[in-house]
Amino acid sequence: RKCLSLIKKTKYLNAYITVSEEVALKQAEESEKRYKAGQSLGDLDGIPLAVKDNFSTSGIETTCASNMLKGYVPPYNATVVQKLLDQGALLMGKTNLDEFAMGSGSTDGVFGPVKNPWSYSKQHRERRPQDERDGSYWLITGGSSGGSAAAVAAFTCFAALGSDTGGSTRNPAAHCGLVGFKPTYGLVSRHGLIPLVNSMDVPGIFTRCIDDTAIMLDVLAGHDPKDSTTVQDPIKPFRIPSEMDVSRLCIGIPKEYLVPELSSEIRSLWSQAADLFESEGAKVIEVSLPHTCYSIVCYHVLCTSEVASNMARFDGLQYGHRSGTDVSTEALYAATRREGFNDVVRGRILSGNFFLLKENYENYFIKAQKVRRLIVRDFMNVFDSGVDVLLTPTTLSEAMPHLEFVKEDNRTRSAQDDIFTQPVNMAGLPAVNVPVALSNQGLPIGLQLIGRAFCDQQLLTVAKWLE
Ligand code: GLN
Repeated sequence: RKCLSLIKKTKYLNAYITVSEEVALKQAEESEKRYKAGQSLGDLDGIPLAVKDNFSTSGIETTCASNMLKGYVPPYNATVVQKLLDQGALLMGKTNLDEFAMGSGSTDGVFGPVKNPWSYSKQHRERRPQDERDGSYWLITGGSSGGSAAAVAAFTCFAALGSDTGGSTRNPAAHCGLVGFKPTYGLVSRHGLIPLVNSMDVPGIFTRCIDDTAIMLDVLAGHDPKDSTTVQDPIKPFRIPSEMDVSRLCIGIPKEYLVPELSSEIRSLWSQAADLFESEGAKVIEVSLPHTCYSIVCYHVLCTSEVASNMARFDGLQYGHRSGTDVSTEALYAATRREGFNDVVRGRILSGNFFLLKENYENYFIKAQKVRRLIVRDFMNVFDSGVDVLLTPTTLSEAMPHLEFVKEDNRTRSAQDDIFTQPVNMAGLPAVNVPVALSNQGLPIGLQLIGRAFCDQQLLTVAKWLE
């Protein structure tokens, strides 16, 4: 009830698209009954959680923040949602995002932008310039899972699901002072997650501390017959040891991540964190990931190509929005998509179809796949040379004022904002944002740790040490 009342009080954040109050209260009642009857409880019994609105939820509207899916009520739960419910979690609602998870600000959904709770925090209010103190001033959450981040940061729930294709969980986690975890590709099922880039999408986890992430991951990880890319035998249970001997670790610092656009405050925290590891006896070395600079361009070719194919299902016939124009099948498709999708989605469909044209396929799609292979190999070389974990910034800067952010278009912004997070999705590796400090502006700053594939437990253990 406290969480529900906080959801109402913080409505101005626009974190939720749907609040499933009745569902949550009913689940809470059942949970209480189990507790009182002394029955065995699930790992998440009675715990309020939120889910990004691109995961299918049985009987609850799932919109992807798009006109195309307004009013669409899936008949089944995404595997991850079902797993949470099976462990007794309470579903508080579905959270806001950029339309179809395309973006890095949570400003591009049809239900309007998400506001960062830190905009109104005491720490930030005291330090931000006087002349900005009017109603038009607020900070973005980052994205695309900004609603989930705001929901956890505003204490309306204890954890939330996001999705992460290029950084959509880690980026808003960094801007909202949360742990944002992207598991190894294949560890957690994507069944019921409405796809953006199938070969890179993973469900992500937002929590306020690493221990909570481990509990969530323990519930979520595992093989799913409905997602053939999930692995058969993940290490379970995921438990974080209370003691960690850092001195056995080798921490890699990728030199390509030191870019001129990186804020000096984040750069200095990054080097302080490296020093901290070193002072505890860890080996800290500079490493090279030479193909990093091609990652964003390569991502856009692969992403838009997959989008062109994925969005074909939204034809006005099977589900979602249907235009009134029905002079021909083509006209119906065209009108439905024009009315249903925003500019960003339509732009990506067009680009993707261009890259997939017979005369362009070799030059763009196949080349991008080759470049992806080089990016993956960069990571493999570093880990093969003995590095256990990479330490990098998560974002270039702290959360930006909304008015500044919207000066650039969606594509330019994604290109800038995802530079430290996106290469990880190319390689399917696990990575986590760890909140480490508050900036001079009183805003959260996070650093990213990247681990070896399927070494999620080791990664979270190191993250807990840094936390
Ligand atoms: N910013 C990237 C995009 O717009 C990544 C989004 C994501 O991770 N879902 O595609």
